[in-house]
Amino acid sequence: MSELAIKHNVIIVGGGAAGIAVASSLVRKDPSLDIAIVEPSDKHYYQPAFTLVGGGAFNPEKTVREESKLIPEGVKWIQHAVTHFEPDINQLKLSDGTSIEYKYLIVCPGLQLDWHKIDGLEDTIGKNGVCSNYLKQYAEYTWQCIKNFNEGRAIFTQPAMPIKCAGAPQKIMYLASDYFRKNKILEASDVQFFLQGAAMFSVPTFAKPLEKVAARYGINVNFGHNLISIDGNKKEAVFEVVDGNNAGNRVTTTFDMIHVTPPQSAPDFIKESPLADEAGWVDVDQHTLQHKRYENIFSLGDAASSPNSKTAAAVRLQSPVVVHNLLALMKNKSSGKTYDGYSSCPLVTSYHSVILAEFCYEGKVTPTLPLDPTKERYSMWLMKLKFLPILYWDWMLKGHEGDIKHKERPHLLPKE
Ligand code: FAD
Repeated sequence: MSELAIKHNVIIVGGGAAGIAVASSLVRKDPSLDIAIVEPSDKHYYQPAFTLVGGGAFNPEKTVREESKLIPEGVKWIQHAVTHFEPDINQLKLSDGTSIEYKYLIVCPGLQLDWHKIDGLEDTIGKNGVCSNYLKQYAEYTWQCIKNFNEGRAIFTQPAMPIKCAGAPQKIMYLASDYFRKNKILEASDVQFFLQGAAMFSVPTFAKPLEKVAARYGINVNFGHNLISIDGNKKEAVFEVVDGNNAGNRVTTTFDMIHVTPPQSAPDFIKESPLADEAGWVDVDQHTLQHKRYENIFSLGDAASSPNSKTAAAVRLQSPVVVHNLLALMKNKSSGKTYDGYSSCPLVTSYHSVILAEFCYEGKVTPTLPLDPTKERYSMWLMKLKFLPILYWDWMLKGHEGDIKHKERPHLLPKE
């Protein structure tokens, strides 16, 4: 490694949802800690609202804040990207070649959007009716596409899992369909959902209600189809059939608009590092979030290998676990706090309804409120629109940990 320029007790890699939540929580518990966040971007995005931006229901500028205003007082900001890890000597390297030494490391740089894995996508995304809610500027274009759509074919795609917010590819499809319905063009339109998987949602309890929502809008659902290339000028998309008798066949479809959810994976610099598991994610124990080989390293958020659904809601419950277990390690105490895989996905089904899916490891359905969680509700739409942004900016990112306990409530689930 090059000459050592910087040394900190705790280094946090990534100042997104997870990095800021953990830093704020650590500072609340012990303001004397020497912490630095390595984060290249001067902007922080509230990504869960990108769905609403794409549907024209949220001001895009309200999804962005200055990173400098979110980093808690007393925490140093190193505005660079990490490029390499050397965990055997407790060092990492930055994009400018500087090496940093740490005593404890928290790794949360999110995941990577692999636009390049779909042929032709990088040339046409953001124009020719090709949009995506996975980046702010393209989410704004999604709304242009929906507003300008005037009958024809609207396609929505979903790649192989894991992706961040597994429900996002279909939430925008329901908003678009509801908009077309209001403008009396839904019946004359052909809305198609092409997804790589074989079910509408990985947790079976929520798959059935989503099938009903899709049927209500007359959406054609094509399971086992993976987008492999796109030609924006010709308005053509090519899908590969991934299973069944036709596996390997290609299907070419024209479109008037297409919302693409890009394939996603661990960031390359994680994949190539000694921290990665076989799939490239930071190799942590799914309950303690501590690295399986390096005890002074923790990971949470989208980059972690824990098999939860990758959401900010998961981060909200992972952060207190990492903070508690790290502080215990610093004091040579045994760590006692565990993460149960909680994640939550507000499945937007129209401009006035949401199914609030909350679940833990192994697909256990664990609602916070004593209500049938499979029902579309206006109250949950209001929560998504008004309450969750406040919970994110003013609660989670400020390091507050208080929470209403989620739990299994089988008596509330609809009988088969
Ligand atoms: P991020 O918040 O993405 O932050 C990662 C940070 O790491 C970034 O600031 C990045 O600049 C930084 N970084 C990257 N590379 C490096 C490097 N080399 N060195 C240092 N820093 C680096 N979640 C929900 O809970 N509910 C929802 O309804 C929901 N909907 C979503 C809809 C969409 C369209 C999208 C895109 C996401 C949605 N999410 C939702 C998911 C949620 O936003 C993420 O799960 C959450 O932001 C993950 O937090 P994170 O800190 O792991 O990653």
